[in-house]
Amino acid sequence: MYGDDIASVLITEKEIHEKIGELAKQVSDDYPERGDRDDLVLVAVLKGAVMFMTDLSRSLTVPVQMEFMAVSSYGSATSSSGVVRILKDLDRDIAGRHVLIVEDIIDSGLTLSWLLKNLQSRNPASLEVCTLLRKPDAVKVEVPVRYVGFEIPNEFVVGYGLDFAERYRDLPYIGTLDPKVYSS
Ligand code: 5GP
Ligand code: MG
Ligand code: MG
Repeated sequence: MYGDDIASVLITEKEIHEKIGELAKQVSDDYPERGDRDDLVLVAVLKGAVMFMTDLSRSLTVPVQMEFMAVSSYGSATSSSGVVRILKDLDRDIAGRHVLIVEDIIDSGLTLSWLLKNLQSRNPASLEVCTLLRKPDAVKVEVPVRYVGFEIPNEFVVGYGLDFAERYRDLPYIGTLDPKVYSS
């Protein structure tokens, strides 16, 4: 699939699923089932976090509700500026709810920093972050991230939800792109 566009596989499908099992156990332990309309609310930012959210949710042993946001950040295709506009907001009020933001990757952390402020202003009972991937630059911004799947080097990665020009999201693993893809 995708010819020889993928230069190397950074994280295999098996490694992703093992890690999701570990994360799901931690999350399930931390958010016991409360019942009566008090389920944990997972918030994914479209589109990159969708694969992770759906797999994570199926590994949890507690019920969750799922919400989606779409944002556009002003910046180039491969870096973000921290200036964010909401294209699609949550469908429901999160006041008084336990909320877990599910992220594909934290790079500069600017998008997440904005999102945390925005969601915090809606007065959730709690607000935490679970990201599958984190890059080294993320330490520069003070964003509290409770659950991290993998720390990865500062390389542009695709697959398992992550795209380059809307391609490669459907790969079941995470890999790096051959430089010829950017330059063509
Ligand atoms: P941040 O605001 O943390 O710099 O950027 C977060 C967003 O930038 C991610 O949700 C993702 O859409 C994009 N991004 C950052 N690094 C990568 C990467 O290595 N590969 C891909 N495909 N997207 C990335
Ligand atoms: Mg994201
Ligand atoms: Mg993208």
